[in-house]
Amino acid sequence: MDFSFEAYRKLLTALQKSDLNPTTFISYFENPTENAAIIRHDVDRRPLHGLKFGELEKEMGITATYYFRAGSCCYNEKIIKALSDMGHEIGYHYENLGQMNGNYEKAITDFENNLSRFRKLVDIKTICMHGLPMSPYDNKDLWQKYDYRDYDIQAEPFIDIDYRHLLYITDASRTWRQDSKANLRDKVANAISHPYLNIYDIIKDIEQQSIHQPLMFNIHPHNWSFHFLQHVQLLAWQSAKNMVKSIINRVRR
Ligand SMILES: [Zn+2]
Repeated sequence: MDFSFEAYRKLLTALQKSDLNPTTFISYFENPTENAAIIRHDVDRRPLHGLKFGELEKEMGITATYYFRAGSCCYNEKIIKALSDMGHEIGYHYENLGQMNGNYEKAITDFENNLSRFRKLVDIKTICMHGLPMSPYDNKDLWQKYDYRDYDIQAEPFIDIDYRHLLYITDASRTWRQDSKANLRDKVANAISHPYLNIYDIIKDIEQQSIHQPLMFNIHPHNWSFHFLQHVQLLAWQSAKNMVKSIINRVRR
Protein backbone atom coordinates (compact mmCIF):
# COMPACT_ATOMS: atom_id res chain seq x y z
CA MET A 1 0.00 0.00 0.00
CA ASP A 2 1.33 3.43 -0.95
CA PHE A 3 2.14 5.75 1.97
CA SER A 4 2.68 2.83 4.31
CA PHE A 5 5.85 2.18 6.26
CA GLU A 6 6.32 -1.04 4.29
CA ALA A 7 6.17 0.81 0.98
CA TYR A 8 8.85 3.20 2.22
CA ARG A 9 11.04 0.26 3.21
CA LYS A 10 10.65 -1.11 -0.33
CA LEU A 11 11.71 2.21 -1.79
CA LEU A 12 14.85 2.26 0.36
CA THR A 13 15.65 -1.35 -0.51
CA ALA A 14 15.34 -0.57 -4.23
CA LEU A 15 17.65 2.43 -3.79
CA GLN A 16 20.22 0.35 -1.98
CA LYS A 17 20.27 -2.31 -4.68
CA SER A 18 20.58 0.28 -7.46
CA ASP A 19 23.62 2.30 -8.46
CA LEU A 20 22.04 5.37 -6.84
CA ASN A 21 23.58 6.80 -3.71
CA PRO A 22 21.00 7.81 -1.06
CA THR A 23 22.37 10.88 0.68
CA THR A 24 21.66 14.04 2.66
CA PHE A 25 21.11 17.44 1.09
CA ILE A 26 24.28 18.91 2.60
CA SER A 27 26.51 16.10 1.36
CA TYR A 28 25.11 16.49 -2.15
CA PHE A 29 25.57 20.24 -1.97
CA GLU A 30 29.17 19.94 -0.80
CA ASN A 31 29.99 17.11 -3.19
CA PRO A 32 27.47 16.80 -6.05
CA THR A 33 27.52 13.41 -7.72
CA GLU A 34 25.50 12.29 -10.72
CA ASN A 35 24.10 9.23 -8.96
CA ALA A 36 22.87 11.05 -5.84
CA ALA A 37 19.41 10.32 -4.46
CA ILE A 38 18.89 13.03 -1.87
CA ILE A 39 16.39 12.02 0.77
CA ARG A 40 14.76 15.06 2.28
CA HIS A 41 12.02 14.94 4.89
CA ASP A 42 9.93 17.96 5.81
CA VAL A 43 8.64 17.46 9.35
CA ASP A 44 5.46 19.50 9.07
CA ARG A 45 3.57 17.64 11.80
CA ARG A 46 3.91 14.48 13.94
CA PRO A 47 7.66 14.43 14.67
CA LEU A 48 7.31 10.88 15.95
CA HIS A 49 6.74 9.73 12.37
CA GLY A 50 10.02 11.43 11.48
CA LEU A 51 11.77 9.48 14.22
CA LYS A 52 10.36 6.20 12.88
CA PHE A 53 11.59 7.02 9.39
CA GLY A 54 15.00 7.94 10.75
CA GLU A 55 15.26 4.68 12.68
CA LEU A 56 14.41 2.65 9.58
CA GLU A 57 16.98 4.54 7.50
CA LYS A 58 19.60 4.13 10.18
CA GLU A 59 18.87 0.39 10.33
CA MET A 60 19.46 0.27 6.58
CA GLY A 61 22.65 2.34 6.73
CA ILE A 62 21.08 5.37 5.01
CA THR A 63 21.30 9.01 6.07
CA ALA A 64 18.69 11.64 5.18
CA THR A 65 17.93 15.29 5.82
CA TYR A 66 15.16 16.29 8.24
CA TYR A 67 13.76 19.82 8.10
CA PHE A 68 11.96 20.66 11.33
CA ARG A 69 9.48 23.48 11.82
CA ALA A 70 10.24 25.50 14.95
CA GLY A 71 6.68 25.59 16.34
CA SER A 72 5.07 23.41 18.98
CA CYS A 73 3.70 21.10 16.27
CA CYS A 74 7.11 19.76 15.49
CA TYR A 75 10.01 21.11 17.50
CA ASN A 76 10.86 18.20 19.76
CA GLU A 77 14.35 18.41 21.20
CA LYS A 78 14.63 14.73 22.05
CA ILE A 79 13.64 13.64 18.55
CA ILE A 80 15.84 16.22 16.82
CA LYS A 81 18.82 15.15 18.91
CA ALA A 82 18.09 11.45 18.38
CA LEU A 83 17.92 11.85 14.59
CA SER A 84 21.12 13.87 14.58
CA ASP A 85 22.86 11.24 16.70
CA MET A 86 21.83 8.65 14.10
CA GLY A 87 23.85 10.61 11.54
CA HIS A 88 20.97 12.36 9.80
CA GLU A 89 21.24 15.99 8.79
CA ILE A 90 18.93 18.39 10.64
CA GLY A 91 17.80 21.63 9.03
CA TYR A 92 15.40 24.41 9.92
CA HIS A 93 12.05 24.39 8.06
CA TYR A 94 11.42 28.13 8.30
CA GLU A 95 8.13 29.98 7.79
CA ASN A 96 8.85 33.36 9.39
CA LEU A 97 7.56 35.76 6.76
CA GLY A 98 4.14 34.12 6.65
CA GLN A 99 3.92 33.88 10.40
CA MET A 100 4.85 37.54 10.81
CA ASN A 101 2.31 38.59 8.16
CA GLY A 102 4.90 39.92 5.76
CA ASN A 103 6.81 42.03 8.30
CA TYR A 104 10.44 41.50 7.23
CA GLU A 105 12.05 42.88 10.40
CA LYS A 106 9.95 40.72 12.68
CA ALA A 107 10.47 37.76 10.37
CA ILE A 108 14.27 37.93 10.38
CA THR A 109 14.36 38.32 14.17
CA ASP A 110 12.11 35.31 14.50
CA PHE A 111 14.38 33.41 12.08
CA GLU A 112 17.49 34.29 14.12
CA ASN A 113 15.88 33.27 17.41
CA ASN A 114 14.67 29.94 16.10
CA LEU A 115 17.94 29.18 14.36
CA SER A 116 19.93 29.74 17.54
CA ARG A 117 17.48 27.53 19.44
CA PHE A 118 18.17 24.72 16.93
CA ARG A 119 21.90 25.35 17.07
CA LYS A 120 21.99 24.84 20.81
CA LEU A 121 21.04 21.25 20.03
CA VAL A 122 22.61 20.34 16.69
CA ASP A 123 24.69 21.66 13.84
CA ILE A 124 22.57 23.43 11.18
CA LYS A 125 24.05 23.98 7.74
CA THR A 126 20.96 24.14 5.54
CA ILE A 127 17.45 25.53 5.78
CA CYS A 128 14.33 24.95 3.72
CA MET A 129 11.13 26.97 3.47
CA HIS A 130 7.82 25.57 4.66
CA GLY A 131 5.10 26.41 2.18
CA LEU A 132 2.20 27.76 4.19
CA PRO A 133 -0.64 26.96 1.78
CA MET A 134 -3.14 29.31 3.41
CA SER A 135 -0.79 32.32 3.61
CA PRO A 136 -0.46 34.97 0.88
CA TYR A 137 3.29 35.22 1.68
CA ASP A 138 6.03 33.13 0.11
CA ASN A 139 8.50 32.37 2.91
CA LYS A 140 11.44 32.33 0.47
CA ASP A 141 10.89 36.05 -0.17
CA LEU A 142 12.66 36.76 3.13
CA TRP A 143 15.89 36.22 1.16
CA GLN A 144 15.11 39.02 -1.23
CA LYS A 145 15.91 41.36 1.62
CA TYR A 146 18.34 39.28 3.71
CA ASP A 147 20.99 36.66 3.01
CA TYR A 148 21.01 33.33 4.83
CA ARG A 149 24.73 33.00 4.16
CA ASP A 150 25.20 35.77 6.74
CA TYR A 151 23.89 33.22 9.25
CA ASP A 152 26.37 30.55 8.26
CA ILE A 153 23.77 28.68 6.24
CA GLN A 154 25.24 27.06 3.16
CA ALA A 155 22.17 26.23 1.13
CA GLU A 156 18.39 26.23 0.69
CA PRO A 157 17.02 23.46 -1.56
CA PHE A 158 14.39 25.68 -3.19
CA ILE A 159 17.01 28.30 -4.05
CA ASP A 160 20.38 26.64 -4.55
CA ILE A 161 19.46 23.70 -6.77
CA ASP A 162 18.92 23.73 -10.52
CA TYR A 163 15.92 21.48 -11.06
CA ARG A 164 16.51 21.36 -14.80
CA HIS A 165 19.28 18.96 -13.88
CA LEU A 166 18.00 17.25 -10.75
CA LEU A 167 14.68 15.39 -10.69
CA TYR A 168 12.38 16.45 -7.85
CA ILE A 169 9.84 13.94 -6.56
CA THR A 170 7.54 14.94 -3.72
CA ASP A 171 4.68 13.30 -1.87
CA ALA A 172 3.29 16.70 -0.81
CA SER A 173 -0.45 16.56 -0.09
CA ARG A 174 -0.13 12.80 -0.19
CA THR A 175 0.14 12.52 -3.93
CA TRP A 176 3.11 11.88 -6.24
CA ARG A 177 1.40 13.55 -9.20
CA GLN A 178 3.23 16.56 -10.54
CA ASP A 179 0.09 18.21 -11.83
CA SER A 180 -1.72 17.98 -8.48
CA LYS A 181 -3.89 21.03 -7.81
CA ALA A 182 -3.61 20.29 -4.09
CA ASN A 183 0.10 21.08 -4.00
CA LEU A 184 0.18 24.87 -3.71
CA ARG A 185 3.65 25.82 -2.56
CA ASP A 186 5.82 22.76 -2.52
CA LYS A 187 6.91 23.23 -6.11
CA VAL A 188 10.27 23.87 -7.72
CA ALA A 189 10.99 26.09 -10.70
CA ASN A 190 11.81 24.45 -14.06
CA ALA A 191 11.05 20.96 -12.78
CA ILE A 192 11.89 17.95 -14.94
CA SER A 193 8.61 16.20 -15.63
CA HIS A 194 7.99 12.67 -14.41
CA PRO A 195 5.11 10.25 -14.92
CA TYR A 196 4.88 8.78 -11.41
CA LEU A 197 1.45 8.25 -9.94
CA ASN A 198 2.42 5.98 -7.05
CA ILE A 199 5.48 4.71 -5.21
CA TYR A 200 5.50 1.43 -7.12
CA ASP A 201 6.05 3.27 -10.43
CA ILE A 202 9.07 4.93 -8.82
CA ILE A 203 10.42 1.67 -7.36
CA LYS A 204 10.07 -0.03 -10.75
CA ASP A 205 12.10 2.65 -12.50
CA ILE A 206 14.77 2.49 -9.80
CA GLU A 207 14.97 -1.29 -10.21
CA GLN A 208 15.20 -0.97 -13.98
CA GLN A 209 17.85 1.75 -13.61
CA SER A 210 15.72 4.00 -15.78
CA ILE A 211 15.00 6.77 -13.26
CA HIS A 212 16.53 10.19 -13.91
CA GLN A 213 19.74 10.88 -11.98
CA PRO A 214 20.50 12.79 -9.83
CA LEU A 215 17.27 13.18 -7.92
CA MET A 216 15.75 14.46 -4.71
CA PHE A 217 12.91 12.88 -2.79
CA ASN A 218 10.90 15.17 -0.59
CA ILE A 219 8.95 12.87 1.68
CA HIS A 220 6.71 14.04 4.52
CA PRO A 221 6.75 11.33 7.23
CA HIS A 222 3.50 12.59 8.80
CA ASN A 223 1.64 11.51 5.65
CA TRP A 224 2.73 7.90 6.06
CA SER A 225 0.99 5.36 8.23
CA PHE A 226 2.26 2.56 10.38
CA HIS A 227 -0.87 0.45 10.46
CA PHE A 228 -4.02 0.05 8.45
CA LEU A 229 -6.47 2.05 10.58
CA GLN A 230 -4.21 5.07 10.62
CA HIS A 231 -3.97 4.79 6.85
CA VAL A 232 -7.74 5.15 6.50
CA GLN A 233 -7.77 8.15 8.87
CA LEU A 234 -4.98 9.91 6.97
CA LEU A 235 -6.67 9.26 3.65
CA ALA A 236 -9.94 10.83 4.83
CA TRP A 237 -8.19 13.87 6.36
CA GLN A 238 -6.06 14.48 3.26
CA SER A 239 -9.02 14.23 0.85
CA ALA A 240 -10.83 16.93 2.84
CA LYS A 241 -7.73 19.14 2.89
CA ASN A 242 -7.00 18.68 -0.80
CA MET A 243 -10.52 19.74 -1.65
CA VAL A 244 -10.04 23.02 0.24
CA LYS A 245 -6.62 23.62 -1.31
CA SER A 246 -7.78 23.05 -4.86
CA ILE A 247 -10.51 25.63 -4.27
CA ILE A 248 -7.90 28.13 -3.01
CA ASN A 249 -5.78 27.37 -6.04
CA ARG A 250 -8.69 28.05 -8.39
CA VAL A 251 -9.54 31.32 -6.65
CA ARG A 252 -5.90 32.50 -6.78
CA ARG A 253 -5.61 32.02 -10.54
ZN1 LIG B 1 6.66 21.93 5.10
